[in-house]
Amino acid sequence: MASPIRVKVGSQGLATLQSAGAKDADLYKCVHCGLCLNVCPTYLETGLETESPRGRIALMKAVRESRVGLTPRVVGHMELCLQCRACEAVCPSGVPFGRLMEATREQIAGQGRVPLVRRVVLGLVFRHVLPYPRRLRFLTKLLRLYQRSPLWWLGQRLPGLKRLQSQLPPLAPTFFRPRTEPFQPEGLVRMRVGLLSGCVMPLAQAATMEAAVRVLTRNGCQVVVPLAQTCCGALNLHGGDGVQTRRMARLNIDAFLDAGVDAVVVASAGCGSAMKEYGYLLRDDPAYADKAKCLSALVVDITEFLARLPLVAPQGRLPLRVTYQDPCHLAHAQRVTAAPRQLLRSIPGLELVEMENASRCCGAAGLYSALQPQMSRQLGEHKVESVLATGAQVVATANPGCMMQLQAGLRRVGSPIRVCHVVELLDEAYLQDAQGQ
Ligand code: SF4
Ligand code: SF4
Repeated sequence: MASPIRVKVGSQGLATLQSAGAKDADLYKCVHCGLCLNVCPTYLETGLETESPRGRIALMKAVRESRVGLTPRVVGHMELCLQCRACEAVCPSGVPFGRLMEATREQIAGQGRVPLVRRVVLGLVFRHVLPYPRRLRFLTKLLRLYQRSPLWWLGQRLPGLKRLQSQLPPLAPTFFRPRTEPFQPEGLVRMRVGLLSGCVMPLAQAATMEAAVRVLTRNGCQVVVPLAQTCCGALNLHGGDGVQTRRMARLNIDAFLDAGVDAVVVASAGCGSAMKEYGYLLRDDPAYADKAKCLSALVVDITEFLARLPLVAPQGRLPLRVTYQDPCHLAHAQRVTAAPRQLLRSIPGLELVEMENASRCCGAAGLYSALQPQMSRQLGEHKVESVLATGAQVVATANPGCMMQLQAGLRRVGSPIRVCHVVELLDEAYLQDAQGQ
């Protein structure tokens, strides 16, 4: 194991520390024990202390104490972090690494420490695309046209473009859309729930969203998909755009609280994790602090929600060998690992086989695959090897980014293994049941 980075605390650093708030105190919870090293994907790949949670925390402290500047090298170490929070889940000192890294990314973005082109592109995406569902739909339609045009074929001959194109799943002709009228269950209404539509899922994985609605209504839920909602803001938050994240959080808080729902169900692990933390995100906002806490308390991952219900038992058989990939923001950030497995085991005929390192990051991590292609690809290849070793016919997961990364990795090796969300399998079992098979 590499030794920890040594830091010298000068008088100026101590003064900074003493005047700092709780966020800074979190930095000093790390006792350098190193228990997080062997779960950190970037440390495991590189063997470098500076690419480990402990090393990154030491660098954050050094920057905070003005012993080191936010140099390109320091920024590089921070940017290689996947924000997977595997370190946070095993830390005995309770270091909230996710929050520390979010604050660091905001500091990096605030000081303009990223290349200009990337700053402009991300600024456009974060501020002018993600918060606007109509613009997102329009751009996805253009992308779909591009996918079917000769330009796509040309792109496959340009290495940089080929890499980006290989991450993109074939886009379906229909989108899932928020709507005014709730989806109604066939029988009695047991609960009224809100469903986050989000940014990527309704466009790239409409079938998953439709399956989520059918499974919820089958279980007696009236499902509201408020028109006024927007993207959860997770990509902005991880990219250091805290200001826009807070704006989007306020919109979602109003949209879901106004809908008068008993729970806000989320089928994307990354979005659920971000929304469960709206209370923390808006803790200093006098108008929204309390409302944000209320909303966060209502947020629940769809697998967690269904596993807590007296679930309508699926009767249709799915004779499939299935393995499950834990999304980082479900396993490490929300600490939900048993619920998706419980749902899969409830399906008659389905055999659940565990893959090696199921909860290690697959390399998707939001925009990471575009920004850190080499590390993303390495991690994706390890994940594909783990999936292939199980002999499974299907890999189930619970996050759109993981689904796309797994699909891309399996496509590259020519594997026919299907990738889907846990609720899609549950939905299929219900549909077979309804058809009397
Ligand atoms: S496990 Fe926690 S306390 Fe130990 S080195 Fe890692 S971050 Fe620090
Ligand atoms: S968030 Fe993930 S990649 Fe980043 S330091 Fe922690 S374990 Fe490593």
